[in-house]
Amino acid sequence: MEYKQVTLPADKSIALVAHDNKKQDLLAWCEKHRETLATHKLYATGTTGTIIEKNTALPITKLISGPLGGDQQVGSLITEGKVDFLIFFWDPFEPLPHDPDVKALLRIAAVWNIPVACNQVSADFMVASPLFNGTVSRSIPDYESYMRSRAKS
Ligand code: PGA
Repeated sequence: MEYKQVTLPADKSIALVAHDNKKQDLLAWCEKHRETLATHKLYATGTTGTIIEKNTALPITKLISGPLGGDQQVGSLITEGKVDFLIFFWDPFEPLPHDPDVKALLRIAAVWNIPVACNQVSADFMVASPLFNGTVSRSIPDYESYMRSRAKS
């Protein structure tokens, strides 16, 4: 795979997702970092977004609820380059009907080399980094060269 460098912009597009047992953790984290989050564009799966918007008044683009395809929508936005940061508090104790979607979302975040926080402390570290509100260079798969090598014949 060939890679190319792109810039993660200062004003990021952040997706927020939390499983049911983790929603209060994510809400508390959003309340704590409300001012910082207000300077970025926020997306969330349906229920997560509704809860956070109601309690923080942060504007959030709400996708479909996770078990009905919301995790896949987030993955699709990452693939299109429209989401470049993922805060995903997934539940390590509960098997869920959409576990394959959870795995797929984590995989696609790794493919496109975006920052991912899976718990409060990781997310705290990220917000504390000067990179959170600054630009960052990241390497992503070079799609054009990938297609050239695949469609040779
Ligand atoms: P929800 O989806 O925000 O609609 O609960 C999250 C998930 O379960 O992936």
